[in-house]
Amino acid sequence: MLVSVWDALGLVLAQEVKTDREYPPFDRSTRDGFAVCSKEALPGAGLKCVGEIKAGDTVTQALAAGTCLQIMTGAAVPAGADAVVMIEHTSREGDLVRFERTALRGQNIVPRGSEAAAAQTILSLGMRLGYAELALAAQVGAVRLRCAKRPRVAILSTGDEIVLIDETPGPFQIRNSNSVSLASQVRIAGGEPVVLGNAADRIEDLGEKIERGLKEDALVLSGGVSMGKYDLVESALKAMGAEFFFDAVAIRPGKPAVFGMCQGKPVFGLPGNPVSTMVTFELFVAPAIDLLSGAEARALPLVEVRLAEAMKEKPGLAHFLPARVEWHGAVPEVKALKWQGSGDIAALAKANCFLVIPDDKACIEVGESVSVLLRKDVV
Ligand code: AMP
Ligand code: MG
Repeated sequence: MLVSVWDALGLVLAQEVKTDREYPPFDRSTRDGFAVCSKEALPGAGLKCVGEIKAGDTVTQALAAGTCLQIMTGAAVPAGADAVVMIEHTSREGDLVRFERTALRGQNIVPRGSEAAAAQTILSLGMRLGYAELALAAQVGAVRLRCAKRPRVAILSTGDEIVLIDETPGPFQIRNSNSVSLASQVRIAGGEPVVLGNAADRIEDLGEKIERGLKEDALVLSGGVSMGKYDLVESALKAMGAEFFFDAVAIRPGKPAVFGMCQGKPVFGLPGNPVSTMVTFELFVAPAIDLLSGAEARALPLVEVRLAEAMKEKPGLAHFLPARVEWHGAVPEVKALKWQGSGDIAALAKANCFLVIPDDKACIEVGESVSVLLRKDVV
């Protein structure tokens, strides 16, 4: 699809973009000052200023020997000049400009063609369009760009206890918050969410709604993948021909997550506990959306920071705990937040990252280096 640069933020390029001319198209001054011949601009020497060149001025005349021209940032350096001396390093007496130091050849000039040659590929197929990429496209006049369509990601929550978010739940019911977090995460990952609502914990209802979901590019389910009697998502998928690549992961929260292909479409069954749903989406679904977009999977936003409070967790599973990293001191520090387990959305709403505790490391001391998975939406 062809998209205007104004609307293409976050999309993936389905074409190459080439320069329409050299960049910069002329020898460009990077400073306000004087265009000189470096051999003539010596400390104490004076050169007669014979005119000025503003950004955008058409420059045809060469600099005459023994003279200089006042020049502005972004203006074209005339032939005969090979340096620009910053105005701060000069003094002026009438027409005469004096220099404090020796000018170096090429100083404060970006030579024509040094950023890019003419007809050079500057954006390639599969690149994600951020603000810099879009500015580059705009610079070369590529105002409409062929982009890949956002993958459509069906979102299906499951559970007999789930009600719509605008309904008042009964005393033992809960609102469908997972569809909201999943739709947001799909958007951030570059996909287009298609929210299908909720399926009851019954094979027939699941089957019907999964079938609808398989019309999209990928399907993400929440809930129904644990060991309970009414966790029927895997069975329902199997009945529709799904092949699973994994049906458990050594992480907490998120252990019961499953991934498979069903009728040619990738299907993720994420555990229903809200924080489990969020973590497993970031780890498994977001990279898949990159691939479905025609891009390479982006690396997870993992960074090493200093642990501010000692931690102890059971070994055997990698933990992803709601935490806050702060950049107040010389080194960023992370502290895990108090939480009530993977149903505690309030804890995650205070967090800006997940603190990662590796499966083989039960205790981590204050000051040790730890990884955090940043929340891309708030950091
Ligand atoms: P499940 O994975 O189906 O066993 O669900 C685990 C927990 O997550 C239960 O406490 C559910 O009530 C909760 N849960 C499941 N689906 C949702 C949802 N769509 N929104 C909010 N919480 C959910
Ligand atoms: Mg359930």
